[in-house]
Amino acid sequence: MTDVFQPGEDFARQLDAEDLLRHFRDRFHFPRRPNGSPYHYFCGHSLGLQPKAVRHLIEQELDDWARLGVEGHFEGTTPWYSYHEIFRDNGARLVGAQPGEVVMMNSLTVNLHLMLATFYRPTGKRRKILVDSPTFPSDLFAVQTHLRHRGADPANDLLVARPRSGEHLLRMEDVETLLNTHGHEIAVVLWNGVNFYTGQLFDLQLLSEIGHAHGCVVGLELAHGAGNVVLQLHDWQVDFAVWCNYKYLNSGPGAVAACFVHEKHGRNLDLPRLAGWWGTDPHTRFQMEDGDFKAQPGAEGWQVSNPPIFSLAPVRASLALFDAAGMPDLRAKSEKLTGYLHYLLEGQAAKAFEIISPARLEERGCQLSLLVHREPRKLFDALHGAGMLCDFRAPNVIRVAPVPLYNSFEDVWMFANTVKTLSMS
Ligand SMILES: *Cc1c(COP(=O)(O)O)cnc(C)c1O
Repeated sequence: MTDVFQPGEDFARQLDAEDLLRHFRDRFHFPRRPNGSPYHYFCGHSLGLQPKAVRHLIEQELDDWARLGVEGHFEGTTPWYSYHEIFRDNGARLVGAQPGEVVMMNSLTVNLHLMLATFYRPTGKRRKILVDSPTFPSDLFAVQTHLRHRGADPANDLLVARPRSGEHLLRMEDVETLLNTHGHEIAVVLWNGVNFYTGQLFDLQLLSEIGHAHGCVVGLELAHGAGNVVLQLHDWQVDFAVWCNYKYLNSGPGAVAACFVHEKHGRNLDLPRLAGWWGTDPHTRFQMEDGDFKAQPGAEGWQVSNPPIFSLAPVRASLALFDAAGMPDLRAKSEKLTGYLHYLLEGQAAKAFEIISPARLEERGCQLSLLVHREPRKLFDALHGAGMLCDFRAPNVIRVAPVPLYNSFEDVWMFANTVKTLSMS
């Protein structure tokens, strides 16, 4: 791959000219620097940019509310009563699921709680939850909560797979060894599709296979995976997955999140869950006198409350863009875009910083994490001053994510060139 790239700026322009997805950039708002020029934006891993179509979709709901009041539930342009159903197909397509396996609801951590309430069922010796490290604090808190609620002890029953000492990435062979040793004690494997810190992408099919071979439930945390890499959640037999829609999915701060429940569980209406009225059959939802919860089939049966329509509307704009571009084409561009960034930075890396994300493109998504050896904060601030928006993870990591929907090869070249100039000064 590397040898197909060239160092000059002309080459970036040529790659942009050849890029069939380049027009998607015009569908987004770019934040501007104090001098009025747009930032080079590399924070899709944290908060994706606003699609221009979002405003109209929210305004439509404001208008329907003003115009119709309560009747908007059934008479609205897109009736609120069934609003979540419009994501059945495109939500599923995004992650390789079947219609009915994905629902947009709540926020990520709340969905993780709902999934653990159903799928963490400690019995006998099988009481542990296995997570990968570094673990995002919110995920860790959720896991600790469920261990405690079920009388397990986080000190013993939380297993953390860590990189070998002196290394930053997890080796799949070590994960296999860990499962061979402890598999029979593990109730749930909860794994990041793409790790938020290192950007490492795991072989999720293999993980699902070995987890299941040991009798574990396999759940995925896809905050950094959905909209970033190609997923086949249904075929991989993943039991459940959760993700947020505000990172690679560009649906706005605190946007309504997503939840995947495999059909094999979605059909099991007796699975215990933290139920609410939105998870019941919509035809009998208002029959208040019948005190029994009857789950509707599929992921929608885990809904609790009626959804916040204004926070759900942006997801429509987002998924329309993902459908128009298609995940396979986005991933193909992403491999090239991040490959180009890797190529340009690698040449300068040795002294100033080290790229801790995987070098092989099959093992990473958009993001590269740079571990900066000297004065990392100073380099980060200088990048910001030069119009590069990336993010900083204390004590010394800069995360940069060129995303295929709105970043250009020219953006990437500018970033690498700025790092070069700053490291020399
Ligand atoms: C972004 C992120 C979260 C955020 O959780 P919210 O419930 O959306 O606030 C949790 N876990 C991981 C791994 C993340 O990357």
